[in-house]
Amino acid sequence: MTIELDPTQDPTTSPRAAEALRGLIGGHVHLPGDPGYDAARLPWNVAIDQRPAAVALPRSAAEVATVVRVAAEAGLRVAPQSTGHNAGPLAARGLDDVVLVRTSEMTSAIADPVRGIVRVEGGTTWEPAVAAAAAHGKAVLHGSSPDVGIAGYSLGGGIGWYARKLGLATNSLTAVEVVIGDGSLVRADATTNPELFWAIRGGGGSFGVVTALEFRMYDIETVYAGMLMWDLAHLEPVLREWAAWAPTAPDEITTAFRAMRLPEMPDLPEFLRGRQLVVIDGAVLGSDDRGAELLAGLRALRPELDTFARVPAKSLVRLHMDPEGGAPFASDSAMLASFPDAAVDAFIAEAGPDSTTSLLMAELRQLGGALGRPHEGGGVLSRLDAQFVTFGGGIAATPEIGARVHAEAVRLTEALAPFDNGRQYLNFAENPVDTRSAYGADVWTQLTGIRSAVDPHGMFVANHPVPRLYEGGRPTA
Ligand SMILES: Cc1cc2nc3c(=O)[nH]c(=O)nc-3n(C[C@H](O)[C@H](O)[C@H](O)COP(=O)(O)OP(=O)(O)OC[C@H]3O[C@@H](n4cnc5c(N)ncnc54)[C@H](O)[C@@H]3O)c2cc1C
Repeated sequence: MTIELDPTQDPTTSPRAAEALRGLIGGHVHLPGDPGYDAARLPWNVAIDQRPAAVALPRSAAEVATVVRVAAEAGLRVAPQSTGHNAGPLAARGLDDVVLVRTSEMTSAIADPVRGIVRVEGGTTWEPAVAAAAAHGKAVLHGSSPDVGIAGYSLGGGIGWYARKLGLATNSLTAVEVVIGDGSLVRADATTNPELFWAIRGGGGSFGVVTALEFRMYDIETVYAGMLMWDLAHLEPVLREWAAWAPTAPDEITTAFRAMRLPEMPDLPEFLRGRQLVVIDGAVLGSDDRGAELLAGLRALRPELDTFARVPAKSLVRLHMDPEGGAPFASDSAMLASFPDAAVDAFIAEAGPDSTTSLLMAELRQLGGALGRPHEGGGVLSRLDAQFVTFGGGIAATPEIGARVHAEAVRLTEALAPFDNGRQYLNFAENPVDTRSAYGADVWTQLTGIRSAVDPHGMFVANHPVPRLYEGGRPTA
């Protein structure tokens, strides 16, 4: 690779540069003005208007490598994206000189019961991987949504329903295959390219385009799981009980807490349509009796709906009822070191029944347990040093509504700022943030050094970028 990228490059030259990609990989490249460009650039978060110099839809690792090589020769950079759930911070950084490499055509998921892993391609979403594992009576560490991309989720951490028992999903990766800056395809695991394997497990999409991932399956066939639901009028007692219980709860239970304002949408089930609710959902890796014991305090608050029961593990991929297929969304999030009574008061003021907020949800995910402990042999992000992560979000039907929802989500995180741990959980950060704030200062130099080694010319553009480290020690994108 001979082309050194010039960060001061005039973006108006990019349309001409992108012509170099026309007709590449069987024509699966779309340039501005092409009939397929608008559909190809549309991310899952449809509120985000990402306009790259070109969009490539490779069907194999070899095609990814071709796109990376030709983009480099044309003086363009490359942004990997599988679904666009976290397209906001990527688009905000500007894509004028960037080829968006969408891995959404690379979606296989194959379980290997002998090795105890599932192998997926770089654009696979969780649902097919959950199904592949379930066919062998196993489970994988998916999150709350069936159509989140495994690559982005796992490279950013990954908090799912078994997280307090089994940790971040990124710790369960056993190998990744990546097209790096020189266009070569490399494998990284505990013994091959271990530095890259360390950096990419939590370091995100700055190191190359991930074309395949392998991760552990667990012996989980059924789970005691479900949701408890109250009218929002009951927020205060329920939140006080949950917030006091959650940090001390044993590892086998993982829950999420939401104050929700649901619209009058016809595709919502009738019992949810137009309601303002408190919802606690979660899963217990234990017997039904153990589950009942752990939920006794919350059940004493007499939820109007209680669906906790023994269910097939594969059903958990829809437990949270996340929107599927794309939605316009605006949000903000923060990690919380603690959630004392004053935090409960602040949360109620922002999201309680007397608030005028339009946030669809004000959410708290229960951390702790294995999520809080270092994982032996883990990557740069093997634990989260917080008791909770909060996420406020809502539908951004128009840019104006999106701006209002974002401002309200920021108000929620600002109200909880006294309890903030000063760090970011990058998977939930849907706006540009300082990437460094996700890691300890001690690992940052190492992380930027590994970026420099695998991507010396700064080919890759990530939503939450890890910069290169120049020899003089000056970080650069
Ligand atoms: C509805 C919803 C539910 C969610 N639930 C959870 C949850 O339960 N737990 C949790 O931890 N998070 C959750 N998230 C956050 C989610 O993990 C992040 O948005 C994550 O970045 C999504 O990954 P993606 O690949 O789908 O998104 P994308 O926007 O496609 O990717 C995000 C970034 O990941 C990197 N990336 C993606 N694909 C590749 C690739 N093939 N090669 C290299 N880099 C790549 C890139 O840097 C990219 O910019 C949720 C988000 C939403 C919107």
